[in-house]
Amino acid sequence: MTVSNQKFVPLDWKQESPSALLDRIRDAEIVGMGGAGFPTHLKFEAALRAEHRSVIANGVETDPGVSADKTLLRQNGNDVIEGIRIAARVLNATSCILAVSERSIANQLKEGNSSDIDIVEVENTYQNGEERVLIEKLMGRRIASDVYPATLGIIVLNVATLFAICESVRDGLPVTKRLATVMGHDQWCEIGTPVHDLAPSSDKLRVGSFANGRPADSKVSLQPTHNAVSIDRANSAMPCIRCGWCDTACPKHLPVERLLNEATGSLSAPTSLTHLNDCNDCGACVVSCPSGIPIIDYIRGSRDRENNSRTAERRASEALSRFEAKQQRISTRNQRTLDDRESRMQQDHKWQ
Ligand code: SF4
Ligand code: SF4
Repeated sequence: MTVSNQKFVPLDWKQESPSALLDRIRDAEIVGMGGAGFPTHLKFEAALRAEHRSVIANGVETDPGVSADKTLLRQNGNDVIEGIRIAARVLNATSCILAVSERSIANQLKEGNSSDIDIVEVENTYQNGEERVLIEKLMGRRIASDVYPATLGIIVLNVATLFAICESVRDGLPVTKRLATVMGHDQWCEIGTPVHDLAPSSDKLRVGSFANGRPADSKVSLQPTHNAVSIDRANSAMPCIRCGWCDTACPKHLPVERLLNEATGSLSAPTSLTHLNDCNDCGACVVSCPSGIPIIDYIRGSRDRENNSRTAERRASEALSRFEAKQQRISTRNQRTLDDRESRMQQDHKWQ
């Protein structure tokens, strides 16, 4: 992703129209900074089609060893709150909730802020940072996995995204930096900085946490979605001892040990795509593993292979259907030609 340094005219968001604020969010190219990278203005546009709208600010940071969002809330909590108010103005939202995982942060933010935003402390479990789980916990609404919450008028925005919204609207600033946890320390980092320049003492790095981040080679640079740079422990992994701790740790109750052994080829069984797709990449299994196995890399690898092979199967089956339909059309056309000739011959015969 290229970083735009274009500055904008600061907007008085209390006076500007909601559509002008949304235009700014689009022009500043703000994306979900919690990891998804989805264009934020599209989320707003989907929510605007719903009758009632709500904003949930997600400050529940569940990635192991990552504290950038908590630090952002402590240092720039009022900017995040202003970002929530801007989002609420764009949507004409009827409710705004800020979910945080530490009481001290909740207390700090409640001081001096009026009651237009409900600041709620949520237990810091692996699942609670997930969009649908958070909505159910905070609003009591269960949303099916194939329904996009924004289409129901509920938008969940990471606190770093809301900070970016505030800066782009209020101060006219593009997103050129973000707070990230680099090797355990929270620091402001320029977007686009080569990841290995941020942590030059280690040659094996991940973007994201050590448990659920992705391996970063020397070409990887920091993106708005990267909340951390961590050491990659994959090289020091030991063999699986089949202790089953990963199964116990998984908040989705997946058969993690089996998925791992299928992925490494030590167990031959058909891999369940449902299980692989149910994994939310939380990294709890990696944290629990006494052998330090980067289980999530194997699960992602299996998932990509399965999805690709099913896509290839689907394409082959669609191609076969198209071929058969074409053969059918040709055969129908040929038959029609024969029938026409037959009927002409009979007519010719009658004229004789
Ligand atoms: S298998 Fe997936 S959902 Fe389960 S603990 Fe590991 S990363 Fe989390
Ligand atoms: S926790 Fe690690 S060692 Fe134990 S079964 Fe799972 S992958 Fe194997």
